[in-house]
Formats: sequence, C-alpha cells, structure tokens
Amino acid sequence: MAYSFPWQSERFADIQLLRYEVPDFNSLPLRQKLFVYYLSEAALWGRDILWDQNCRHGLLLRHVLEGIYTNYKGPKDDAEWQAFVVYLKRVWFSNGIHHHYNCQKFTPGFSREFFLREAGKLYSSQLPSQIEELAEVIFNPEVMPKRVNQTDGEDLLLTSSCNYYAEGIAQAEAEAFYANLKKHSDRQHPPMLGLNSRLERNPDGTLCENVWRSGGLYGKAIDRICEMLGKARQYAENEKQQEVIDKLVEFYRTGDLKTFDDYAILWVGETEGEIYFINGFTEVYGDPLGLKASWEGFAGITDREATRRANTLSSNAQWFENHSPVDSRFKKKECRGVSARIINAAILGGDLYPSSAIGINLPNSNWIRAEYGSKSVTISNLTHAYNIVAKGSGMREEFVIDAETRQLLDKYGDIPDDLHTDLHECLGHGSGQLLPHVDADALKAYGSTIEEARADLFGLYYIADPKLVELGLLPDGEAYKSQYYSYLMNGLLTQMVRIEEGSQLEEAHMRARALISRWALANYPQTVQIVESGGKHYVRINDYGMLREAFGSLLAEIQRIKSEGDYEAARQLVEHFGVKLDATLHHEILQRYHRLRLAPFKGFINPKYEPVLDEAGDIRDVKASFDEAYDAQMIRYSQQYRAL
Ligand code: ZN
Repeated sequence: MAYSFPWQSERFADIQLLRYEVPDFNSLPLRQKLFVYYLSEAALWGRDILWDQNCRHGLLLRHVLEGIYTNYKGPKDDAEWQAFVVYLKRVWFSNGIHHHYNCQKFTPGFSREFFLREAGKLYSSQLPSQIEELAEVIFNPEVMPKRVNQTDGEDLLLTSSCNYYAEGIAQAEAEAFYANLKKHSDRQHPPMLGLNSRLERNPDGTLCENVWRSGGLYGKAIDRICEMLGKARQYAENEKQQEVIDKLVEFYRTGDLKTFDDYAILWVGETEGEIYFINGFTEVYGDPLGLKASWEGFAGITDREATRRANTLSSNAQWFENHSPVDSRFKKKECRGVSARIINAAILGGDLYPSSAIGINLPNSNWIRAEYGSKSVTISNLTHAYNIVAKGSGMREEFVIDAETRQLLDKYGDIPDDLHTDLHECLGHGSGQLLPHVDADALKAYGSTIEEARADLFGLYYIADPKLVELGLLPDGEAYKSQYYSYLMNGLLTQMVRIEEGSQLEEAHMRARALISRWALANYPQTVQIVESGGKHYVRINDYGMLREAFGSLLAEIQRIKSEGDYEAARQLVEHFGVKLDATLHHEILQRYHRLRLAPFKGFINPKYEPVLDEAGDIRDVKASFDEAYDAQMIRYSQQYRAL
C-alpha cells in the first residue's frame, strides 16, 4: 500500500493548516533523538511568553476561550457556537486576538451574550470583573484595534496594543529613554538595547525596564526552558554546542545583553553539529519601534544530501563569478560562496508556530554579522509540504497555458525551484563588488529590491547553464525551462493573488520578481508574451534560449547599477516595472484565484514526540507521530506547557 502522509489538515477563515514530515528523525541515533526531543521541549515551554507579549490579556483570554470550548454542552450546529470555534482557531493561529499578518483585531462572528453566558458557566459564583473586561477587548472594535501600528505620523506606541510597553507610555518617551541608554553604551559593539524587557513606569513617573529573565518577568517560563536546555545539553553533539547552551542559560538567568552577544557569537561559530536550534528573544517585527524581540523556539535536523548540493555550488563559486555576464570591473576577484545549510524542521515554537518562516538567517546584531558572519538555513520539509499542497490546489490547471507546459512543470517537480533558491542564496547575494568609494546605501529605498532582483537573475541565468547538469544538480538540459515558466507566471500573474485589489507591490522580493518578468515582457516581445484565451490571460514563452540571454543582459545592467550606485537608474527600473499593478489584470487574477477557494495563509501542526521508557524507567527511544488534530495540539500545549 502506498504510504500517504496527512499533509493537509483543516481549513477555516483565511487559513489552511498543514503537517510536515521529519524525514530523518527515525533513523537518528538515540542520542540525537534525545537532543532533538529536549530542544523541542525547550521550544514549547516559551509559548506563554509570546501570548503575553502579543497582548496583555492574551493568556487569560486563551484560558477562558479554551474553557468554553472544552465545557460547551449546547448544540454543535448552533451558528453562534460554530462562529465561536472559528474565532478560537484564528486566535490560536495568531497567538492572540490580532491577525498574524496584517495585525488587525479579529471581528467575532458570535455575540457578547453568548460569550458572557458560556464564560459564566466556568465560574461557580459571580462572574469576575476581568471577564467583562475581556468582553470589551473581544467585542468593542475601538479597544485594541491593532497589535502593531506602523502608520507614519501617529504615536506608534499609543496606537499599538502589543504588550512591550506599559499602557500610556508615548513613543517620544520610549525613544528618549533608549537614546539615553545608547549614549552610555559601547559604540563599537553596541548591545541590542531593549531586546529582552518590557518598558514600564516607576511610581515617580520615570521609566524602567522589567527584564525577561529568571526571577524577573516571565521567570517561571524561562526556568522551565532552562531546565529543558540543561537536559538537552547532556546529549549535545559536541563541546561547542554545550558552550552555546551554557551561555544561553547564563543569559536567561541574568538577562544581561552583553552575555546575549557572547551567546550569539558562540552560536554562529557552531557549524559542526547536525542539529540546529533557535531558542530565545529573536525577531523584532512585533514591536513598532523594532527594539523588543518576540520569543521563538525551533529545532531542525540537517538534510545531508541537500546540504551537499548547496555546498557543491559554494565550492564552485569562483567559476560562476568568472563566467557571469557582468562587466569584469564588477566581479569579485576572490569569491567565497555562503555555505547555507538545508534542514528539516523538527519543532516550531513561539513566534514560528503555527505560521513559520521557511528560511532563517541569524543573528540579527549588525556588528556580530560583520565580524563573525551569520548562519543561514533553508527549511526544506516545510517548503516541500507547501509544494505538495500547491500541486492539488488547481493553481496550475487554472494559470498554466497548456497541458504540455503543465507536464514540463510536473516532470521536474521541486528540483529546479529548490536549485534556484540555492543559487540565489549561496551565490547570487555574494557575487559582484561595488566600485571603490561607492556607498553601500547609494540606492536607498530601492536597494533591497535591486539586491533581490540581482540574486534572482544570477539564479535564472545560471540555472540554464550546462554546468549545473555537469555538477549533477539538474537531471538534464531541459529542466531549467520549468523554472523559467513558473518564475514568469508568478512574476507576471499569480503573485498578485497576495495583494488586495487597489494596492501596489511593496515587498522587495515581490517587486524584484515583477521587475524581472515585466522587463523581459517589454524588452523581448517575441520571446515572452501574455496571451488571452477565453477571457483569461496566460504567459507564453516562445524561445527559452533567448529568454536566458534576456536574463543575462538584465543581470549585467542590474549589477552595473549596484556597483556604480546608480540611484536614478534603480529608481526608473523599480518604479517602471516593479511597483504598479495593471488593475484590470489584477482583478481578473483575483477572481480566478477566489474561484479556487484557496487559503492565502498557511501554518503547521507540529509532530508529537513521546519518549519510550524501558522497565528501569530509562528512555530507550523517542517516537514521533504526525496525526494530532489542531485543536487537540493547542489544548495539550496550553495544559502541558502552562508556565505563566
Ligand atoms: Zn534574497
């Protein structure tokens, strides 16, 4: 019987839940299994921290909603109940009451009466006053409308409801507080001020940091994390990993930011082990001022075969640099590829759960990156799950021009796209050089789009090179065509499904794809076309060989712009090809997409790891299972890992 993995789980609102396989877990030696197991426990024990960071009512709200969910005795076909269930599933997905992506508060589809009645059943005596307050938070659209507000000109703290700053602290006050701290801190090696604390007000009105550490704010959760890290340490793969864990625990105990930098330096230097992990206060997107880091946890296992492929590229970096179509003045004389690691996720925790990144590049401290470098990973089992689900989604049937092209895409599967990502990450970004005296920031706001376009073009140009077949990275000389077609289809048509009608492209990667695709369409009208059939528009590629030449010449121009710091040319290219959407075409694409009834946002249910004990009570194995339901997992996490 064919083995079928339960990739797709449930679908609600704008969310589709998936599961991911952990291909190498069962074949790991027990020692590594235990290492992963305890790292995954450490990744789950921080969950409550994030819930409190996202909203000061988050933990109580979750507790009450879950209480209603598990105690409800009424009819299951009741419309209020069903709307309540969708609301709770969305809250779980966002780790709070605001949408995980656009930060707007959810509008509940059930009534305040339903909530108060069902919540009342959880309490034997009178309804606590906090429940009334929660009802305001859930039902009053004026209360906490946005978790993170970035609107220029407004007070970003007073208008954001995230819990990184005590109520009533204004943006200017917080900025002055940190400007003052900055004045007194090390300039050469600046610590990440504000990273691990909540800013609060003293009785005398002055501000102070309430630090997230053992014995401090979130101390109970942090102690459990440290306990699990301590257990993981016994099974570390090498001494360096033990030093990393020791330093991390020291940071959690003291909250000292200098210790955090020491930890980051040790972490980035540990490249031997096959198990990769993140545990701590990491990304700052949840703070409108970009100082305070949300908590996240992650562990993954190196995919040796895929990493070998990526390293084949890195070790040939100079060959690629020498043969690229850019002017020789802009080429690096000595070129080292970035050794990116390909891993399979084993657990997602905190701000990486259930919605996860598929690539991670850390640490975030600029001076540490400059002096010690960074570690970059791509998470291939998550991408694989996305691809599997995309296959059955109907997108290809709807948007690919003909059966012949669909067969081409099916034939080569994920291989060309994964390779394009590797070329982009391992070689593209690292290639080329600026002319002497050119300011690295010369392209200003257009810099990141030009940089992403440059890395994409490097990949597009080389994926058609016979060298890749020779290196054993592509099966034959036709495989690149599959990547060319899907890239242009995405850049010209399908990526628009993520943009609301009336809006323009903002994100750098999306702008870069549009820039490249539309430039090719405009400048090589015989080679690439958008054709209409039965009222629908499709991409047609007439000459793949010529398309490669087009990518080569745009790569040469984009490299020139970057190397010379030609701001005006960058502005022209980006504004002309990378920003505005054709409103009629956008409308058509959205209509076709909506008819497929797909969810624009996806996230993952974690595997469940269970130790298997022998008679003496020692762990003799760790079993991974993949069939836990979404609600069961959420409720189990709330019970098993409740620390705050
Ligand atoms: Zn990139």
